[in-house]
Amino acid sequence: MNFFESANLLGKKLRIVGHCYISGMGRKELAHLLFLILLCLFYVIGNGFGFSNSKLRETTVAMENYGERLKDNFKTDRFDSTIVDKEREHLLLAIEERIAKYLYQIPDYSYIATLETYLTYRPELLHQFPSCVPLEKGNYSLSSRYGMRTHPISKKTKTHFGIDLAAPSGKPIYASAAGTVSEVIYSENGYGIHIIIRHRFGFKTLYGHLEKVLVAKGQTIDQHELIATVGSSGSSTGFHLHYEVWKNEVKIDPRPSFNLKKTIYAEVMDIKPNTHGK
Ligand SMILES: [Zn+2]
Repeated sequence: MNFFESANLLGKKLRIVGHCYISGMGRKELAHLLFLILLCLFYVIGNGFGFSNSKLRETTVAMENYGERLKDNFKTDRFDSTIVDKEREHLLLAIEERIAKYLYQIPDYSYIATLETYLTYRPELLHQFPSCVPLEKGNYSLSSRYGMRTHPISKKTKTHFGIDLAAPSGKPIYASAAGTVSEVIYSENGYGIHIIIRHRFGFKTLYGHLEKVLVAKGQTIDQHELIATVGSSGSSTGFHLHYEVWKNEVKIDPRPSFNLKKTIYAEVMDIKPNTHGK
């Protein structure tokens, strides 16, 4: 008997055994078996999530630690001795190695506070994810927050997954971070004419109820680039921008992102008086 014949025979035997086993089982046993398989599956999936959560906690602690050391390093000497400089470079490098993965992992803006000191040294990172208001200062007022609310048209209570910024018709709307336009949708209801932009680290932004779209699908854009104008298209009761921030496909509150860039850049000016005005 050659290898193929013996493999064939083994397959046949296994099929017979399997068939006898299954057909010998009653409905009850089969239900038990299915229940056990499901239990195993839940265990594996649950453990997977637990693992990623503990990984996130671990990295957050490490990042906090680096942040504290960076702060101490700055306080040590304002006149930059070589040792202080070297230690700072070391810390910045250690954070750099981990930061992209960390930014992908975090579920919302509450984790960004951990990176505040690092961001004062690398503020250009704030161009890559939503960190500002998409409208010009003085052009808007907050008309509806993120969270539970009574819908202005349907009068039903439901979650508002974005923020409404009331603004006059035709006012310019700017991308809140660099990215690629992934959708331009012309709808008569819902969000009306709207744009979705994909950014780095699992972030996306949505701009709804637009008047005019000034970008095309697939276009690469910079932070603060003009993308559209304020309108009232779709299910809307007045001129406003409905703005959403998505993180890893979950719609999160955009509010903490509004002053992020402003705050960090104010700190940059504060800690680097020597580079100011150079
Ligand atoms: Zn809205």
